[in-house]
Amino acid sequence: MRLLVVEDERELAESLRRGLVAEGYAVDVVHDGSTGLEYALTEGYQAVILDLMLPRLNGFQVCARLRESRVGTPVLVLTAKDGEYDEAEALDTGADDYLTKPFSHVVLLARVRALLRRGGEPRPVVLTVGDLVVDQAQRRCSRGTTPIPLTAKQFAVLACLARRSDAVVSKIDILDEVWDEAYDGDLNIVEVYIRALRRSIDVPFGRQSIETVRGEGYRLVSARA
Ligand code: CA
Repeated sequence: MRLLVVEDERELAESLRRGLVAEGYAVDVVHDGSTGLEYALTEGYQAVILDLMLPRLNGFQVCARLRESRVGTPVLVLTAKDGEYDEAEALDTGADDYLTKPFSHVVLLARVRALLRRGGEPRPVVLTVGDLVVDQAQRRCSRGTTPIPLTAKQFAVLACLARRSDAVVSKIDILDEVWDEAYDGDLNIVEVYIRALRRSIDVPFGRQSIETVRGEGYRLVSARA
């Protein structure tokens, strides 16, 4: 899940980024409206968190232009409590939800999850691949009744494969979905995570559910013991 944060208050932007990354999202941050619009138009995000009072283009303009361009990415607008803008107007320009500053991270994360559930194509929250259960809402994984602890990033890689189970997912697609564009390291990071996942979801259970398709990528299949 890749998110865009458009917020000119640098400290707030950074704390938003940290909070969202800790939940396993890939997050890009920009600090003005016109860069935000450019990113939102070209980069394929699952949701945009958009401040209203921004330099260059304000949040209303960004949102309106996105919708004019028929980009339906869900938008959560951030408003200042006694700011000159009101939230009803934000919703009129095509935003999906708004949050008044200051807000708690817990509330923000809940709103983002709700937005992601509503936005895009409907997809089941709990994915099952054989006896492997990947609960995207709770961010929990189990094999049969055995819970499997995973880090946020490991979970994100697994969910990426589970959403397209039985299909081959390329390393580049996994990298795009799970890592943000600030990551400019080796594509082989994906391999490292796949290895860790196998140690968690397969080896202890005597399974081989993550197949390597040479030269193409990985495929998550239902595997018998
Ligand atoms: Ca602002």
